Amino acid sequence: MRKKHSRMQNQYCTFSYFYLKIKVRKEGNTMEYQTLNNGLKMPIVGFGVFRVPDKKECEESVYQAIKAGYRLIDTAEAYGNEKEVGKGIQLSGIDRKELFIVTKVNFKSYENTRETVLNSLKNLQVDYLDMVLLHWPFGNYYQAWKELEKLYEEGLIKAIGVSNFEPDQLVDLISFNKVKPAINQIETHLYCQRHKHHEWEDKYDVAHMAYAPLGQGKANEMFQEEKVVELSQKYHKTPAQILLRYNVQNGVIVIPKSIHEDRIQENINIFDFKLTEQEMNDLKALDHQQAMIGNPEDPSMVEMAMTW
Ligand code: NAD
Repeated sequence: MRKKHSRMQNQYCTFSYFYLKIKVRKEGNTMEYQTLNNGLKMPIVGFGVFRVPDKKECEESVYQAIKAGYRLIDTAEAYGNEKEVGKGIQLSGIDRKELFIVTKVNFKSYENTRETVLNSLKNLQVDYLDMVLLHWPFGNYYQAWKELEKLYEEGLIKAIGVSNFEPDQLVDLISFNKVKPAINQIETHLYCQRHKHHEWEDKYDVAHMAYAPLGQGKANEMFQEEKVVELSQKYHKTPAQILLRYNVQNGVIVIPKSIHEDRIQENINIFDFKLTEQEMNDLKALDHQQAMIGNPEDPSMVEMAMTW
């Protein structure tokens, strides 16, 4: 069973002007939300900031994303850009309470999880985090999880979760700890759909968050798939919007990244059309079941990670 997500009643912006009320429809970006296993509501489309090395560009893209309607921002200690994300947030002038900020503790910091989270708070210029994830299932992630549990109980973090966890690691972590991860963030896109992961996550009420939902620019053939092109013509949407919509309709949270204003807007405007059941099945059939980026069960990937 796919998770249900709710539609917020904020489809219209209302402006009062000399007693005249004008309703302006915000085209295509009526955000939908997922309710996590601790009751917290999370936007189903967010903004990713991996590999935005230019500091000014990072700050500006976060600002643009918030302006375009994104409320979920996904960063990480390992991206080295939490400070710029914080500056972009400040620049936007948005009320902190409106945002859902996610960061991750790098596996090299698992022995110092508390200090790392406190440092993220400082970098991001906030006094709480909506979600903190363990970035990879490497090293002493049990110790790190127990520290995240404490920070969660102290109220410094509203939800805690994991990333790149295989279903067996997820079930193991859940079986021996107090707090269940709210989310598993894993590589998920048309060519790596992760249905097996999703079934296990559903069973344990862990939400599925897709990273690299557009293939990180490494599998651009997916934009040219005949079915994707056909659907993009039918719905007057871009192939990227079809790919993102497919995941969202499967109850998967997506966090596409872009530094271009037009793409930032495009990637969130996916709420004004719905793929049919047949179209969902057609896209499901295009799965290669092959991870390109996050393959932690591959020993050579673990070896490579040790050099990061
Ligand atoms: P992505 O799939 O979001 O791809 C981003 C790339 O897609 C862009 O650089 C651009 O080349 C292209 N693109 C963006 N919008 C487009 C559009 N509308 N049309 C055509 N092309 C477009 O890849 P990502 O950035 O690796 O993943 C998204 C986010 O997930 C990251 O920014 C990061 O926050 C997170 N992430 C997490 C992990 C993890 O280990 N937990 C790993 C990688 C990424």
